[in-house]
Amino acid sequence: MSVRRLSANAPCRCDSGRKAKGCCLPALAGTSALTPEALMRSRYTAYAVGNIAYVMRTTDPAGPKANPDAQTWAAEVRQFSENVSFDGLEVRAASASGDTGEVTFFATLAHAGTDVSFGERSRFVRRDGQWLYVDGDRLALPPKVNP
Ligand SMILES: [Zn+2]
Repeated sequence: MSVRRLSANAPCRCDSGRKAKGCCLPALAGTSALTPEALMRSRYTAYAVGNIAYVMRTTDPAGPKANPDAQTWAAEVRQFSENVSFDGLEVRAASASGDTGEVTFFATLAHAGTDVSFGERSRFVRRDGQWLYVDGDRLALPPKVNP
């Protein structure tokens, strides 16, 4: 399946409450995300719309989440993107210090009708002006209480 459409004037898939054109769309179109949070949000949106190339190129190539076998990696990212329903994102905390950053989030996801939601504290690094995802720790975060 190809990239699903992300309409410029539709609410962004990352649940920021902003239109896509004022949120993740510029990053997916090639503008560098300005903060770790913006990068994290744009990666969630990329998963949601099937932009496999974006997920791969915003992963730290020197980090543990990058797979030197690009073909296998792309297939894995595509399978996750296509088989999971991306039902919500909540950023709980975000910070940056110099060229490193952290984002704590809760992602509401479903796979074949099963809740596969998870919380994570992700680490990011900035290389050549571009924020990249390094890796993350799963956290036992409560889902949203007051929607
Ligand atoms: Zn967004």
